[in-house]
Amino acid sequence: MYELPKLQYSYDALEPFLDARTMEIHHSKHHATYVAKLNEALQNNPELFEKTPEELLRDLGAIPESIRTAVKNHGGGHVAHTLLWESIGPKSTGMPDGELMEAITKYLGGFEKFKEDFSKLGLGVFGSGWAWLVIDADGVLKTLSTSNQDNPISIGLTPIMCLDVWEHAYYLKFQNRRAEYVTEWWNIVDWEGVGEKYKKVMGKYA
Ligand code: MN
Repeated sequence: MYELPKLQYSYDALEPFLDARTMEIHHSKHHATYVAKLNEALQNNPELFEKTPEELLRDLGAIPESIRTAVKNHGGGHVAHTLLWESIGPKSTGMPDGELMEAITKYLGGFEKFKEDFSKLGLGVFGSGWAWLVIDADGVLKTLSTSNQDNPISIGLTPIMCLDVWEHAYYLKFQNRRAEYVTEWWNIVDWEGVGEKYKKVMGKYA
């Protein structure tokens, strides 16, 4: 059975940019529910637990049709939130450096342009969804948004950072003001962690 990963920081560690109550409900209720429902969906196909949740999403065609949508939604929710907690943290350096910064400059027009485009992707999601920083099959850095819990892994991309724009991610503190939430969110991005992920994924292309 899959388990809810522990946060590497406390619920109040992202104050004042993101409040403790939102973090607590988001992790202990929303994310926990995705994990529980993913486990429930797989209960009659226990052999699937041998795969990681990422592997389930990478090949949704291999999932029995009767549970495919449940795996896409709840597995998608589990995997995206796991990456989300690793994308943010209390010790943000404000901007990336090293190889990740070089790739952002090379492929995404520089850090300021990337921030602007990524924010726009998040703000442009109609209803619920995500903005993503991903590496494609050729090792190229890209951004995109998806709806609901659809994960870029399912279309052959490797996400290294994500921004949750479901209302549950910001409503308690920001109500309908998604733009304000996204602006504040840049203050809590864990660039060291994202940079490490970048290097790890790119190592596979070397
Ligand atoms: Mn969420």
